[in-house]
Amino acid sequence: MVRRLHRASAPHLPTSELAKFPARRVEEVKAGDHVRDLQTPDGRRIRAHCTTMSNGGRMLTYVDITDLTQKAAMLETLATTDPLTGLYNRRHFLESLDAEWSRFQRYYRSVSVLMLDIDHFKSVNDRYGHAVGDAAIKAVAAACLDGKRKSDIVGRLGGEEFAVLLPETSLSRARTVAERIRKRVMSAQVFADKVQFGLTVSIGMAEATVSMSGIDALMGAADHALYQAKAEGRNRCIAWAPPPPASKAAE
Ligand code: GH3
Ligand code: MG
Ligand code: MG
Repeated sequence: MVRRLHRASAPHLPTSELAKFPARRVEEVKAGDHVRDLQTPDGRRIRAHCTTMSNGGRMLTYVDITDLTQKAAMLETLATTDPLTGLYNRRHFLESLDAEWSRFQRYYRSVSVLMLDIDHFKSVNDRYGHAVGDAAIKAVAAACLDGKRKSDIVGRLGGEEFAVLLPETSLSRARTVAERIRKRVMSAQVFADKVQFGLTVSIGMAEATVSMSGIDALMGAADHALYQAKAEGRNRCIAWAPPPPASKAAE
């Protein structure tokens, strides 16, 4: 059995490493109670339980947990993604932002956030119906994903609102990304249900600063800038600017 597992447990290990496996596995079993997940070359997951018997012997039980791990992966996808667009959902986006915020606090790594909202989207729904509206949401999602870096996280916050998390990104670089998305949306056409039309988005940008209390403040800043972009006529990107320091304001 040990010899069989030798091949099965770590199919990608170099032969020299594999050769050490039986001895290591015997040591593990001698050491006593443990649980160990093994992978077969055909991709099945096997969970091995080792139990120490009262007479000092060992009982090894092998259970095929392939379907359980596949279901867990499926649930993970369902819990973190938005079904319409395949983007991350609000919860997962905020969790990722939280992790990035910790890095910012610990190492002063810059991090920026974009918040997008489709302009006059109600009129798309009113004119063409909800299904075409959904197609428009997907088109904007595609424009956000197009050209994103591997580390960037795009989420659908809800309705026709999206957010992009840009780790290691200053505000000036975030502006470049935002402008690229804005122009891509503006030049794309939505084709759905025999209609064709264009869209625009407004984008608010904000970079984490030490004066912010947390991710709510960062998201609030991007949201504030987005509100300003709407007020100034839509189809534009506006950066949040921190209020001037009190001493300067008093001068
Ligand atoms: P503004 O330029 O100020 O953003 O105008 P707007 O019409 O886009 O206003 P708002 O952002 O408040 O519009 C949100 C609308 O989006 C309301 C709702 O009808 C529509 N909506 C929200 N979620 C969905 C969805 O999942 N599918 C579709 N088709 N429409 C949605
Ligand atoms: Mg909205
Ligand atoms: Mg809108």
